[in-house]
Amino acid sequence: MEVVHRDEVVKCPTCEKPIHISVGRWPGGDNDSGGWVLKCIGCDHVFPVNVKNPDDVSRVDSGATILASWDNDIGNRAEVLAMHGIKEASAQPEKLLLLRHVVTTVAI
Ligand SMILES: [Zn+2]
Repeated sequence: MEVVHRDEVVKCPTCEKPIHISVGRWPGGDNDSGGWVLKCIGCDHVFPVNVKNPDDVSRVDSGATILASWDNDIGNRAEVLAMHGIKEASAQPEKLLLLRHVVTTVAI
């Protein structure tokens, strides 16, 4: 199956350090909605980011580490955020899209 990766840059809400992520999607396939709890490597700020397919084909390339992920189908977002001391109403970081699409084929 093919996966399309789209590069995105998320800015840390505290220090505005750019965090490069690669969001993978299965064209015409089953794409999970969810997100990550990220920890900025610049200032250690912990914040949530909504992302498609957080558990399989999406990844963080640089700027932050993934502490946890949630899956909207499971509905564990509030639980995961609470585990990391994040309020549900936390603002989403600013997201910038880069227009580099990479298609890769993965064995599943
Ligand atoms: Zn930061």
